[in-house]
Formats: sequence, C-alpha cells, structure tokens
Amino acid sequence: MIVPSLSQQDIAVLREDTPGVSQLIHFNNAGTGLALKPVLDAVKQHLDLEAQLGGYEAAAASKPRMDTFYTSLAALIGCKPHSIAYIENATRAWNMAFYGIDFRQGDRIVTGRSEYVSNYLAFLQMKQRKGIEIDIVEDDASGQIDLPALKAAVGKKTRLIALTHIPTFSGLINPAEDVGDIAQAAGVLYLLDACQSAGQIPLNVHEIGCHMLSGTGRKYLRGPRGTGFLYVSDNVLDQLDPPFIDLQSANWTADNTYDLVPHARRFETWERYVAGQIGLGVATTYAIGFGMERIGNRICALAAQLRSELSGQTGVTLHDKGARKGGIVTFALAGETPLQTKARLGGSRINLSVSSASSARIDLPHRELDAVVRASVHAFNTESEIERFVKALASLS
Ligand SMILES: *Cc1c(COP(=O)(O)O)cnc(C)c1O
Repeated sequence: MIVPSLSQQDIAVLREDTPGVSQLIHFNNAGTGLALKPVLDAVKQHLDLEAQLGGYEAAAASKPRMDTFYTSLAALIGCKPHSIAYIENATRAWNMAFYGIDFRQGDRIVTGRSEYVSNYLAFLQMKQRKGIEIDIVEDDASGQIDLPALKAAVGKKTRLIALTHIPTFSGLINPAEDVGDIAQAAGVLYLLDACQSAGQIPLNVHEIGCHMLSGTGRKYLRGPRGTGFLYVSDNVLDQLDPPFIDLQSANWTADNTYDLVPHARRFETWERYVAGQIGLGVATTYAIGFGMERIGNRICALAAQLRSELSGQTGVTLHDKGARKGGIVTFALAGETPLQTKARLGGSRINLSVSSASSARIDLPHRELDAVVRASVHAFNTESEIERFVKALASLS
C-alpha cells in the first residue's frame, strides 16, 4: 500500500511559510504550533482593517473571510458548516457541550485514562453538583482505551462517553471510531476532545460517530491562540441546553420567552476575536490544501523516526503507549529531570515541553511517573532537526 506523504517540495513550502524555523527547532507543536505566515498576515491584516475602518465596519467588510472559518472547519472534520461553533478556546468549547447536558443524580460518565485534566475537573464538579458517578475504563495491553472493558462499562445509567482522542501527555492515538461504534450501539452521548488530533491526523465525525467534538486553534492546526471550535451534531441538539445564552445564540420572542438559533451557533457568543476567527479559517484551509492524510502520515513518520533514534540512546526511556501513535513523543533521560532536559535544550534553541503528573492526574501517577519530556513534531519539522535534537540530548556529560 502506498502511504501518501508530503513531497520535499511541500516540506520546503511549509518551512518557507514558517518564519520561526530559521531561528529554532520547534518540537512543542502540542503546546502551540509554530506560527504560519499566511495566518499571521491574515490576523495582522484584519487588525489593521479594524484600526482603519472601526471594528464593526471591519467585521462587516470581512464577512466572507469570517464565513471561511465555518466552511473550512466543516471540511476538516466532514460535517456541515452549520454544525460548527466558534468558541474562544477548546476548553470552553468542550464546556459548552458538557454543561449543556442535563445530568441527573446517579447518571454515569464513562471516560478513559487519557482524559484531559480540565475535562475531569468538570466531571468532579458535576459529581459535586448533581451526584453523577465517573467510571474510568482502563487501558488495554497496548495502552489505548480497553474497548471490551468500555463496552462492559456502558450501562443503563451511562449518560455520556467522554474520550480524549490524543492525550496531551502521550503519543497514543485512541481508537475513537471503535468507541463511536460502542456509543452508537448503546445510544449514549459521545463527546470527543480532539484538541491534539485536529490538524494532526484526518478526522471525520461520521466515521468517528461522535455527537460533539471540541478542538483548539493553537496546536496542530497552527491557528492563533485564543481560538477554538465545537462541532455539535444536529441529532443531539434537542438533548443539549446551552449553559449560557446571549443575543447571538438566542432570540427574545414577543411572548417574553426565547428561541435558540438553529444548529451549533446556539453555543456561540456574539462578541469574539474576529481576527482569530479569520486566522483559524486560513490555518485550516492551509492544512486542507496539503491534505490531512498526507500531513498526518508525515507527522507520524517523523515521530516514529524520533522514537526509533531515542530508543538507541543510552539513558533514554520512552513512555509512549498505544497501538497507534501520533506526533507526540514522551520520554525521560537518566541523570536529568524532565524540567532540566527542557531547560538545557532550550539553551540550544530547541523547544520542548514537560508533561507533569498534575496535568495527567489519572494517567502518569498510575504509571508511576512524575513527569515526562514531551517532544511534539509537526509536518514542517525535518529529519535533520531530529538528528540535531538527538545529538543535543546526548551531549549531557
Ligand atoms: C490543550 C488541550 C485542551 C485545551 O485547549 P485550549 O484551547 O487551551 O482550551 C483540551 N484538551 C486537550 C487534550 C488538550 O491537549
């Protein structure tokens, strides 16, 4: 089978469009993707327009560019533009879906060890507020969510399956489609946190079978910070009540009640970072232009190369798990804490991140890890950057 990947020409274009690559090696794309020039230009252009015309006037003049946000995100995840909401970050996007569910005492949420810590905090709050219960499904031997155990955990009281597709702290790609089959068979709401997968690997909400999906602009999509999106299927709109409404999401009716606007935009607020919306549309269109399958294959291949080179280094312990792995590579180096590794390589202008137990409460401590170094690659990174990175890592005397 031929695996479509990016050509050398594509990679050259990606690097030309990424001004930061001449200054540093950026292996922190799971934190923020390194800025893309077309996105920067679009954001700056809109800010300039606001200064020249006024903010409302600039937004009116940029309406088609604002609409591109919806059409491009819809194309990215395989849905209709009306099923996409623009929200200021992925956390709030996820919150708008989660807190829109009318949980009752005794309802159960089924989740896995990869769940993002902020999501889990929301479960804890709902437990305190409404008396819901949380069921954590263990990983299977490969490290991904255990599908038979998940199926067994879903019962009459299960209201929601909440899954993080790619955890922030591991190379794992969870089998979101198989989880979707289980959710569909059980008739249970399925909320997917696709923060790390959006822009990293191809996504299709119909193949996945999720009802709600949240994503961020700032990571693998390489959009502006402070931008995010929410997908909500038309099929579950009647099961969700937006936790907040405003004059964008609802209309005040003559009889002093209100109607929610149709589709996913009932989860939006009127006021927004317009330049960010335009920028995220440009970033998404850019990714689609190269093809998400090719981008995803390139990212996974680079990360596999990095894991393979690291596994040959003395003192390096790799910590990625899962049958399928993506662009996040986690490890630790003997004789140095992850924070020290990050600081040392930062001195050589290599950007890394550290995932600590506090941001992976139900996973890293379970694996008896306090912290891991996180090196997350993107399609614009190169094989030679990996060589330089591994050399710099090995220079610890
Ligand atoms: C980063 C991240 C988030 C939060 O995204 P924001 O846009 O910063 O709110 C949520 N879930 C996962 C898995 C993440 O990695």
